[in-house]
Amino acid sequence: MVSLILPSQLSTKNSLVLLRRLCGTFIWHKKKSLRFSSYAWMAMLGKLKTADHLNLRGIEALPTCSFCSEGRDCHSHIFFSCDFSYIVITSLFPPLGAFLLRPNLMQTFQWFDDSVDYCCWEKNFCYFTICCTIYYLWHERNSRRFENVWKSPSQLFYIIRNAIIAKVKHWNRFDELKDRFSFLN
Ligand SMILES: [Zn+2]
Repeated sequence: MVSLILPSQLSTKNSLVLLRRLCGTFIWHKKKSLRFSSYAWMAMLGKLKTADHLNLRGIEALPTCSFCSEGRDCHSHIFFSCDFSYIVITSLFPPLGAFLLRPNLMQTFQWFDDSVDYCCWEKNFCYFTICCTIYYLWHERNSRRFENVWKSPSQLFYIIRNAIIAKVKHWNRFDELKDRFSFLN
């Protein structure tokens, strides 16, 4: 089991090496989507252009969350402290609703990694689903910010679900995944 770390705590070379190893396990996989993995990689490293980063560089950006208008537009809030994003991720994975505190990205990946309820290929599917969720949450955030187009959590849930099915229906164990994860049905 690997102890929980946050990107903001990564100040040493060893920590960066650890994060890159974990990201390799959780994000990069030959059967996954490069598009989803790329955004998940950026989010894990805290490199998406959130308002807190832009403001620090003197670039004007609305500092409040585009989902709830209460939290900050920063990585830890968007993934998954925000009510909106938490509803989306728990609608895909109801067991995540058992967290006492909202999990951050690394904690979400590690919860599945540490779980004894999922086998290896099921965990890979969970990692893929998290990456897909990151991509569509970020897309929805930008859509609200720059195009003033809003989707509800349930609309986003179905978009993510359909994108996942389009990809994993070609996986050998798709029928078994449908038995294991109800949102695929
Ligand atoms: Zn929010």
